[in-house]
Amino acid sequence: MARVFNWQIGREMSYWYPESRPKRQFAAVLDINKCIACQTCTLACKTTWTSGKGQEYMLWNNVETKPYGSYPLAYDVKLLEMLGGQEWDGNRYAGRTLFEAAPAGERVLGWRPGHEDYSYPNTGEDDCAGQVDHGEHLSLPHAQWFFYLARICNHCTYPACLSSCPRGSIYKRPEDGIVLVDQGRCRGYQECVRGCPYKKVFYNPLTGTSEKCIACFPKIEQGIQPQCFVNCIGKIRLAGWISRPENARPDNPIDYLVHIRKVALPLFPQFGLEPNVYYIPPVHAPESFNRQLFGPGAAQAVKTYREAARDPDLAGLLCLFGSTEMLVSRFRRASETVAGTDEKGAELVRVPLREPVVVRPARDPRTQLVRINCP
Ligand code: SF4
Ligand code: SF4
Repeated sequence: MARVFNWQIGREMSYWYPESRPKRQFAAVLDINKCIACQTCTLACKTTWTSGKGQEYMLWNNVETKPYGSYPLAYDVKLLEMLGGQEWDGNRYAGRTLFEAAPAGERVLGWRPGHEDYSYPNTGEDDCAGQVDHGEHLSLPHAQWFFYLARICNHCTYPACLSSCPRGSIYKRPEDGIVLVDQGRCRGYQECVRGCPYKKVFYNPLTGTSEKCIACFPKIEQGIQPQCFVNCIGKIRLAGWISRPENARPDNPIDYLVHIRKVALPLFPQFGLEPNVYYIPPVHAPESFNRQLFGPGAAQAVKTYREAARDPDLAGLLCLFGSTEMLVSRFRRASETVAGTDEKGAELVRVPLREPVVVRPARDPRTQLVRINCP
């Protein structure tokens, strides 16, 4: 095991391979508060990449309702229990990561789902109370809340799938940090399925190989955001590039949200993988739940997000979500508009901070028909 630095847990940790960061790292921010669980992202991915034989059960993108939803079943709860105590000392993680908690002879603490675990992709959907049956009862008062968690592969800096593979079939591209399975090398041992805590590698029984989200790299190579991003109805997603904290640029949208404003946080940072998909936590979920999912910065992130309406730079950047299919590398606000640009500064899109409100005359002068204006 090598010693590597993981900025998300504020310390060094053990990992199977030495630290090797790509030239630039693909990353994304998802605003949970705007997701409506329409599953358009799920279908956009499904019809693009996993409509073949042996892929029927695969959801490279899925959207689960928290706290009761999960795909595969209980993937997170099971691992959180296996890992045990997960204390933070300020912003420094004081517990063990999945690599540090690996049993003797293994590279990562993990488990492999069975067929049953993949049989209920929408379990817990829209459920805020849990199942009440067989004489059980709700104890009152009961907090009524749930939220939708959209998930793809996190293209982690320290991927557990990659470190678990005994054949070295999984690699992280040096040019963009996207994690891929070499289909020619893979022999279907499924150690990656066991190792990934987010369960974002899937075994194809027909090809005998493992498959996973490829971040739509043919689109990324052309400067275009992935399918699940450009098709998102709620406009909750923004893809781009993330720097290391010490190199954060205030005009890079992902750096600004993650490193500078700290309003977007990784999912289960305590696992130790340094995942590169970040979430703006739900403002209405209990603080303790957000903290378990997103780490010690969750409460402050919620506070910052709640104040975004009085914060033109942050509000402006949030308006850029879902505004263009191109990858936005830089952004700049000028008065009441915000522009997204490519790396060279060429403008890709410009949006207003506030959509103009137009109240039309009650009678259309052209057709002489009466209109109804909805406030
Ligand atoms: S398309 Fe967007 S809004 Fe709809 S479920 Fe997916 S992430 Fe949520
Ligand atoms: S989320 Fe899982 S599959 Fe994706 S890179 Fe991380 S460990 Fe690998």
